Amino acid sequence: MLEIKDLKVELEEEGKAILKGVNLSVEDGKVHAIMGPNGSGKSTLSYVLSGKDGYEVTGGSASLDGEDILEMEPEERAAAGLFLAFQYPVEIPGVGNMTFLRTAVNAQRKARGEEELSAADFLKEVRAKAKDLKIDAEMLKRPVNVGFSGGEKKRNEILQMAMLEPKMCILDETDSGLDVDAMKLVAEGVNALRSEGRSFLVITHYQRLLDHIKPDVVHIMADGRIVKTGGPELALEVENNGYADILAEVA
Ligand code: ADP
Ligand code: MG
Ligand code: MG
Repeated sequence: MLEIKDLKVELEEEGKAILKGVNLSVEDGKVHAIMGPNGSGKSTLSYVLSGKDGYEVTGGSASLDGEDILEMEPEERAAAGLFLAFQYPVEIPGVGNMTFLRTAVNAQRKARGEEELSAADFLKEVRAKAKDLKIDAEMLKRPVNVGFSGGEKKRNEILQMAMLEPKMCILDETDSGLDVDAMKLVAEGVNALRSEGRSFLVITHYQRLLDHIKPDVVHIMADGRIVKTGGPELALEVENNGYADILAEVA
């Protein structure tokens, strides 16, 4: 599904190397988690995969189902099935949440050569999916994320994900700033979307999200590289002992 080979990335302005050779391969239907200390490059990896400006790829490759995604425009990546949920969801004043979702869904359908959803079909689908995520119908009418609580913003991102039906979902610290109940709701939303043809990359600081979203594989990232890969037990090791032991071991 997602194949990253020796990916090297610098900050465009400063020429500072952030990713120093990332190798990662996420298989169809699998959930991989990336953990790692602050500043290790986890968010940079998700930004570069989404096509955010400000980063220069100086080496390596990233492909989705065999297609080079680094050459694509951000919207082409989305049409190819990539979805990113960010640590800090953006607020879009003046654009209703429902309008935003419908525009995103139809833009993606168009890019895939599919017919647009009718207003009625869209409404039916968005209402059903919002209900699953315990999102108030009122929230669908408000401007995107404006005045939403942290938990509401994250649930709204999961709703976007549910509507866009991506095949590769990347969640960057979706759990940060959430109370336990909100985190469980987000995890349930993600779990409901797990399927054979859909993979997840879950970036998280803490083990607790992984109690609810059970990963198949756990990676530890440090200083711009993946330094250790294991099963769910690796997340528990981090929870119990922090990163120091693992970093000393791989140093
Ligand atoms: P993580 O998500 O693992 O905490 P980041 O990817 O956010 O790490 O950051 C990796 C490193 O790159 C950090 O040292 C951070 O300060 C630096 N960095 C990332 N983006 C920028 C930027 N736009 N300007 C300056 N430094 C940045
Ligand atoms: Mg961070
Ligand atoms: Mg980060």
